[in-house]
Amino acid sequence: MKRVIIISNRLPVTISTEKNRVSVTPSVGGLATGLKSVHEKHGSLWVGWPGIESDTLTPEMTSKIDAELDKAGCLPVHLNADELENFYNGFSNKTIWPLFHYFAQYSDSNPEYWESYRQVNRLFADAVARVVQKGDYIWVHDYHLLLLPGMLKEMFPDNPVGFFLHIPFPSYELFRMLPWRNELIKGMLGADLLGFHTFDYERHFLSTVRRLLGYDISFNTINVNNRMVKADVFPMGIDYTRFHAAALERNRLGRNNQGEILQQIEKLHQDDPDFRLILSIDRLDYTKGIPNRIIAFEQFLKRYPQYQGRVSLVMLAVPSRHEVDQYQALKKYVDELVGRVNGHFARFNWTPVWYFYRSLPFDELVDLYISSDIGLLTPVRDGMNLVAKEYIATRVNGKGVLILSEMAGASKEMSEALIINPNNMEEITSAIYEALVMPVEEQKKRLDSLQKRLKRYNVQKWTGDFLDSLSGVSRLQGTFVAKNVTPSVTGRIRKSYSEADQRIIFLDYDGTLVGFHKDPAKAAPDNEVYEVLDMLAADKRNSVVIISGRDRKTLSEWFDGHNFCLIAEHGVWIRCPGKRWKQTGRFSNGWKEVVRPALEFYVDRTPGSLLEEKSYSLVWHYRGADPELGPMRAIELKDEMTTFLANHDLEILEGNKVVEIKTSGINKGRAALEFLAGKEYEFIMGVGDDWTDEYLFGDLPAEAFTIKVGMVHTRARYTVEDHLAVRKLLKGMVNLNNK
Ligand code: UDP
Repeated sequence: MKRVIIISNRLPVTISTEKNRVSVTPSVGGLATGLKSVHEKHGSLWVGWPGIESDTLTPEMTSKIDAELDKAGCLPVHLNADELENFYNGFSNKTIWPLFHYFAQYSDSNPEYWESYRQVNRLFADAVARVVQKGDYIWVHDYHLLLLPGMLKEMFPDNPVGFFLHIPFPSYELFRMLPWRNELIKGMLGADLLGFHTFDYERHFLSTVRRLLGYDISFNTINVNNRMVKADVFPMGIDYTRFHAAALERNRLGRNNQGEILQQIEKLHQDDPDFRLILSIDRLDYTKGIPNRIIAFEQFLKRYPQYQGRVSLVMLAVPSRHEVDQYQALKKYVDELVGRVNGHFARFNWTPVWYFYRSLPFDELVDLYISSDIGLLTPVRDGMNLVAKEYIATRVNGKGVLILSEMAGASKEMSEALIINPNNMEEITSAIYEALVMPVEEQKKRLDSLQKRLKRYNVQKWTGDFLDSLSGVSRLQGTFVAKNVTPSVTGRIRKSYSEADQRIIFLDYDGTLVGFHKDPAKAAPDNEVYEVLDMLAADKRNSVVIISGRDRKTLSEWFDGHNFCLIAEHGVWIRCPGKRWKQTGRFSNGWKEVVRPALEFYVDRTPGSLLEEKSYSLVWHYRGADPELGPMRAIELKDEMTTFLANHDLEILEGNKVVEIKTSGINKGRAALEFLAGKEYEFIMGVGDDWTDEYLFGDLPAEAFTIKVGMVHTRARYTVEDHLAVRKLLKGMVNLNNK
């Protein structure tokens, strides 16, 4: 593995500057643990904010910190109070965070925040620029740095760039609300690989890319101006062994465990061996559904009074972002709710809700985990929720039930938990009851499956998978680049061309000589196309053949009177200068009456799409349709058509935003071979952009120069970027004619 530069908003360290002495302690958060081995290997580097406002530091102190961080493999990006206010508290936590968690009403689109966000992302890019070397892998993390991949790709196009989003990616309907949506999505697309926790986040992202930018996407591969970018799912895991081993150890200590929490709980169990504890742990954030949980617990106590005095909810709420108004309001509301429930139900020897507003050191956290019978996590939106996984990892005696919100990314991998809708109080109430009465064998069965999965897909595996995929994407990009028509390939084409006396050049039309148009009728040739084709055809040694899926009528309209041959409808018709259109074989088209109504149905249901009829085919065009509905309907259509294919001897050709149903046996390769039959060409060239051109590439002799327009898998020997590059190549050959 190459050196990796990891970039996150915060460095994985805590810095203390007591008595002018600087000490750096590594933190043990999920990301830090997962990347530990990567970070420590091969001189890798972590770039991020060190956690101290830069205006509070003297220059000497700053250099001391920098030096200490350097020893720990960290490169600081120093941020001042103003930047922290606008970039971090502002755009990151008041604009993106609420919107991406579906709290659109909290999202503040303040242009000052945006300006600062751009500037700080630039600071990060500059920091990376100071250290990046050829071949380094760059891995950017999270919503604070959405613009950074774009900035880095522009500066270092050859370094593989990965990006992982640790929070949800929202539906396009939310994302589109951002005034800077295009800049943000383009920034993200600077990465070569984009990782998400769940498939839903990935599909929202792909949908947004398609809708905002109209880029072509096939499965999870996006064509970003001829750079292949992949999106994929990597559900983040935890350091399973650390939590499991700690739980075993704390459990083993038993009565010798001096932790206050366990001692207290032990006392409760002495009074009532059936006493049960429900645990929730989260940052005090409006996304975590804390009020829902308290209200549901209140309803539970009302509905099942037999559990009053016998079940408590322990709620650890870690203080978070208290500078932001909504967090203060939430704190007040939670305080009130806890007060209400405790005020109403408490007894002298029983507190219904134990509420801790602070964070706990690791050992105590583990004590809380192991002493609870039920984990209750009810976020209304959560990228992953690692607490859910930690709760499962700390079950060491085969007992425990997890109740988990379906809105947490973790729920996608943890189907053995009791999955609830956090807005349905009734459902949460019933789940609490179900968890309390669940037989121990069933608890164990569910835990076994969950633990097996979490142990296997831990945070170390997650890191490895992401980096392996990034390396895979960059290898694949390399193979595309290797096929590019470079100046040396152009040189070879020109040499072979100028040495040949008999040359034939097959050119597809749409996407190859001209760009695409929403309305196919409007894609007529421009002057440059005529000019370059006429000049090519003017040389007696050249046979120029336009080989298109278009019908005879259109090709005649455009090219009558020009000195080159035309192949229409993928090879049904051929016409050379001064001759009439000739059919290349006998084909049937009686099937059209059967298939047409089915296709018309698709036109009616897909606004913007249209049906074209050719002699031996029916074509459904969806370039003008909704960018997501079109491809979806195309899949449906192909599926539906398979029933007709065998019965009527038909084929489906899937082109660029078209689905063509045609009599089988007609294709561009076959038509081209007719031209080649019995003649000895010394220079053969075939250029096309479409799936239908693959027949041509496949059937032309191996020495032919076959060129695909666009960066996709192809049988062609070479690729070029777009139709403009094709024109340039042809013009270069024309110039040779004149020499
Ligand atoms: N956590 C902690 N100390 C505490 C409470 C929680 O370190 O007192 C940790 C907890 O173990 C978990 C993380 O905070 O790893 C919370 O991650 P999660 O994905 O559940 O939520 P986030 O805060 O990232 O939204």
